[in-house]
Amino acid sequence: MAEFSLDLNEDQLQIQQWVHDFAQNVVRPVAAEWDEREETPWPVIEEAAKVGLYSIDFFADAVGDPQGLKMALASEELAWGDAGITLAILGSTLAVSGIMGSGTDAQIGEWVPQCFGTPDKIQLGAFCVSEPDAGSDVSSLRTRAVYDEKTDEWVLNGTKAWITNGGIAGVHVVVAAVEPELKARGQAAFVVGPNTPGLSQGQKYKKMGIRASHTAEVVLDDVRIPGSHLLGGKEKLDARLARVREGKRSTTQAAMSTFEATRPLVGAQALGIARAAYEYALDYAKERKAFGRAIIENQGIAFKLADMKMDIDSARLLVWRACWMAATKKPFVSGEGSMSKLKAGEVAVRVTEEAIQILGGYGYVREYPVEQWHRDSKIYTIFEGTSEIQRLVIARSISGVHIQ
Ligand SMILES: Cc1cc2nc3c(=O)[nH]c(=O)nc-3n(C[C@H](O)[C@H](O)[C@H](O)COP(=O)(O)OP(=O)(O)OC[C@H]3O[C@@H](n4cnc5c(N)ncnc54)[C@H](O)[C@@H]3O)c2cc1C
Repeated sequence: MAEFSLDLNEDQLQIQQWVHDFAQNVVRPVAAEWDEREETPWPVIEEAAKVGLYSIDFFADAVGDPQGLKMALASEELAWGDAGITLAILGSTLAVSGIMGSGTDAQIGEWVPQCFGTPDKIQLGAFCVSEPDAGSDVSSLRTRAVYDEKTDEWVLNGTKAWITNGGIAGVHVVVAAVEPELKARGQAAFVVGPNTPGLSQGQKYKKMGIRASHTAEVVLDDVRIPGSHLLGGKEKLDARLARVREGKRSTTQAAMSTFEATRPLVGAQALGIARAAYEYALDYAKERKAFGRAIIENQGIAFKLADMKMDIDSARLLVWRACWMAATKKPFVSGEGSMSKLKAGEVAVRVTEEAIQILGGYGYVREYPVEQWHRDSKIYTIFEGTSEIQRLVIARSISGVHIQ
């Protein structure tokens, strides 16, 4: 029987160091520039593809870690470099998770590699669930998928909002209502491949933070895709819908199963931002003098740093636990996936704000990276389920009560 240990193994340490070096040497030096430009950092994604970080091989190896930690380690290190660039590099993995969560082996084999492309021809993936009137409430999606029996095609119509890589991705995984009256249980996920007529980018959002990550509307106007692009296949969908119509429980919901799998990894990104800000503030507090001594010599500053470190470490333990539970197929009985993302997101917001406070006026200006980290951190309490929704998941899990 294996002993309890929080030591990372050789393989995990190696990935952690490798991604850290990439974050330090390639990502950090250009982070402010891409934040200012508010554009997709293609040269950085190209570099990540060249070294193998943006690739199906890296992804498969990282998510295949028997202890579930490699992808979390990589996510934390990359986001330590820059969160917007991290999302530009890792945003595609949300689409990958959607395909792996609902697709058949043949669909996974066909579409997952296309979410990355090749180093010579990079492609991105996008996972399209949210809509202008349905964010937290994913059960009320308006995007419709209608089956055309004559041509064996699905026809998609609707508008998706807030989509990471929306419109610039080669592969869009779209969650749509097949039977709207069945709410979330009447939905399914579809793959819209490269250059499919009818799919276009709507407005691109101007954001507070993670500005190197592209976020836009995706408009679906009579998008026709082959029947084979329904993830999981029609037979399985028909059987599921029949079960739901009979009042039996359905085991899968296309959007929620993807988010459950990815939340701890999103939490790991938030940790990376928090750690960057904490490290910077710690160094600064030792250097900066006021009233004839380093500001860290004041408890008012030193205790802030103690709390920041403690918060980051406790959030990491929750992230690692959720990753380990997912990898070892232990069910999230108390919303452990939600706990990890909730805690890490809120810690990142608090720690980056405290870091600004420690830097004083220097924390508030763009010459220093801390204000950007604070702007970047805020999204982690909003996307992939807001903090309120995470609390709802946890509260329902621990109580068995359908809390509203
Ligand atoms: C930068 C960015 C990138 C994103 N990327 C993607 C993506 O790639 N794919 C995708 O599908 N979506 C994406 N999203 C969408 C994101 O997941 C949603 O914005 C989020 O789920 C919240 O939905 P909403 O904005 O509609 O807010 P709403 O659902 O309208 O919520 C508004 C407020 O009400 C609260 N609230 C709602 N219901 C309850 C309740 N029952 N109890 C308590 N409080 C409640 C919320 O917590 C929130 O504070 C992205 C969003 C952003 C900003």
